[in-house]
Amino acid sequence: YKICSSISRRYAATSAIQEISTLLLVEHKDNALAVSTLNALTAAKKLGGSVTALIAGENPDSIAKTVSKLDGVSKVLVAKDKVYEHGLPEVYAPLLTTAQKKLNFTHLVASHSAFGKNILPRVAALLDVAQISDVIDIESPEIFVRPIYAGNAIAKVKSIDPVKVLTIRSTTFPPATTVDAEVSRESAPDAEKPTLAEWVGEEIQKSDRPELGSAKKVVSGGRALKSRENFDKLVYSLADALDAGVGGSRAAVDSGYCDNALQVGQTGKVVAPEFYLAVGISGAIQHVAGMKDSKVIASINNDPDAPIFQISDFGLVADLFTAVPELTEKLKK
Ligand code: FAD
Repeated sequence: YKICSSISRRYAATSAIQEISTLLLVEHKDNALAVSTLNALTAAKKLGGSVTALIAGENPDSIAKTVSKLDGVSKVLVAKDKVYEHGLPEVYAPLLTTAQKKLNFTHLVASHSAFGKNILPRVAALLDVAQISDVIDIESPEIFVRPIYAGNAIAKVKSIDPVKVLTIRSTTFPPATTVDAEVSRESAPDAEKPTLAEWVGEEIQKSDRPELGSAKKVVSGGRALKSRENFDKLVYSLADALDAGVGGSRAAVDSGYCDNALQVGQTGKVVAPEFYLAVGISGAIQHVAGMKDSKVIASINNDPDAPIFQISDFGLVADLFTAVPELTEKLKK
């Protein structure tokens, strides 16, 4: 069902007379463009009007060149400084608000990734407008569709703020493509660089396995795995046999069976692979919110009444400790 709501603000009608012009915040790491930015660009194009891409980093030139060839980008702004290297919201927020104030964008858009979610709400607060999160469709430059109640209802949100600040759910928009032509690249307006926060370091696990967010197949394990050893032995082996990424329920994460970064669901990652296999997961709404858009869903659970079966295309009522090793062996053959 649909719930219509509207955010009524004091600057009514400003956007109706202004031409649509969107600022898209580009995410990149280790000299590679985040695929979710391509999805966010498709959403930005759907708003109509021009799309200016903003790239910041210590040395963002090659990414800026890549972005200048993306279909739908009208101009590229580059902010080159060491402070932008690690995506700190304390320095990105003034960069975006300064660009907005100087260049008068009507929409600020980023992907609903950890990067976008960290920066855009701060930008919205600084601009004194509403933040519209996890947008899954764009009906018009003022009306946006987004899930609420862990995806159990879809809200249409109308904003008449002078600037709309949106994060985009990447799985619901196809990625933008590259064209032969290149658009111009120029320096972004100089912004204040607060020294409130400082980058200390990060620990990243390296793995040859497909990354959960972009994997075509995902195998997720739940509380029923009972231990990290079982999770490693059963879920990872099955994922390897399928060349799949690995995910987990919050119960599996909270119990220490798998890492936090693997959590799928309302408070974890939202994935929509071609194939999602839930092993020993009950199908709580908060988990389902993160995987229900998968093309084919299969599940293994020993309880025939487990809610996960209600959203599964294929279900196997079985003890996972027998079924998973058997399936893994068969797949290996
Ligand atoms: P359980 O619910 O305990 O289910 C285990 C399942 O395994 C059962 O269905 C059982 O029948 C089956 N089973 C047991 N033994 C076996 C066996 N030997 N073989 C086969 N099957 C077996 N959860 C998330 O996953 N992601 C989120 O992002 C998330 N966010 C949340 C946010 C909020 C605000 C709240 C309140 C909750 C959130 N949760 C989230 C938690 C969610 O409500 C559930 O508690 C959680 O998903 C349960 O995880 P589970 O399915 O692994 O465990």
